[in-house]
Amino acid sequence: MTEPAAQAQIIDGKVYAERLRGQVSEEVAQLKADHGLTPGLAVVLVGDDPASQIYVRSKGEHSKAVGMHSVTHRLPEATTQDELEALVRALNADPAIHGILVQLPLPKHLDEKAVLAILDPDKDVDGLTMVNAGRLASGLPGLYPCTPAGCMILLRETVGDLTGKRAVVVGRSMLVGRPVAQLLLQADCTVTIAHSRTQDLPAVCREADILVAAVGRPRMIRGDWIKPGAAVIDVGINRVPFDDPIKAAEGRTKVVGDVNFKEALKVAGWITPAPGGVGLMTVAVLLANTVSAAKRAAGLEI
Ligand code: NDP
Repeated sequence: MTEPAAQAQIIDGKVYAERLRGQVSEEVAQLKADHGLTPGLAVVLVGDDPASQIYVRSKGEHSKAVGMHSVTHRLPEATTQDELEALVRALNADPAIHGILVQLPLPKHLDEKAVLAILDPDKDVDGLTMVNAGRLASGLPGLYPCTPAGCMILLRETVGDLTGKRAVVVGRSMLVGRPVAQLLLQADCTVTIAHSRTQDLPAVCREADILVAAVGRPRMIRGDWIKPGAAVIDVGINRVPFDDPIKAAEGRTKVVGDVNFKEALKVAGWITPAPGGVGLMTVAVLLANTVSAAKRAAGLEI
């Protein structure tokens, strides 16, 4: 009789995201009851990028669902830098708003860095300002980027203690790769950051007890790049044509991650599906960050 093929445990992002949203919801109710404090989140969307519209709608719905004060500012594509910065300054000064998220990417004529430079770091619930990047790199408390923080929750919930683990992060963006590497370092992992110039990437990946893929290249990480039993966190969101040639011919697409899921499933110990893994954590962490920002603003313990 042949042994059944080993199979990784699938990390269901929905379960952990629901749990976190539930905790946030309880905390919001408690803050209202005990302190008359309603955490407020403002989301700013410029233009009509279809993916951004979906994300922004989801952020608005989820923040309302947990009982927060939620405001969405939809600005036309033709918004000027001055107009956008004036709105951000007004939100910085608004005591009912504890978290501000400017949905990126902005239309090409707008300067993202300049907008982030004026955003109040204590309302920067996306964790993208230089101040929060510096706090993270220095190991100080701050508002950390949502997707990387979501990766850490999934790892802690599944792997448990991360101390001393070898972690490899593929990707070095300010949005995902770098902050997730910093968080792994804070968790006492031994961290390698790989990127497009890394030599022999498969060999580097094979060293990882924890492998985080944040590349943006569909199914790039193959099964034989993975150390048996490793925890694989796939951050990638890539649109590709359907494998089924009829659906592909109709121009239909689906989302896949940066990891070849079918291959990885046979080798890894734990793996996040994409979609259905990390992506679901991002909004839940955004809500948690908004609660933290509101508590800090009110001088309450976080
Ligand atoms: P970026 O394009 O900003 O960064 C990609 C990184 O991957 C770069 O550091 C790049 O290296 C590296 N890279 C590219 N090609 C290779 C290669 N062949 N070998 C090794 N490294 C390579 O992407 P993001 O970090 O913003 O996003 C990464 C993925 O995560 C995307 O699929 C994105 O859609 C997804 N994402 C998902 C989120 C969610 O779940 N909510 C949130 C944010 C992103 P170099 O620096 O050398 O160019």
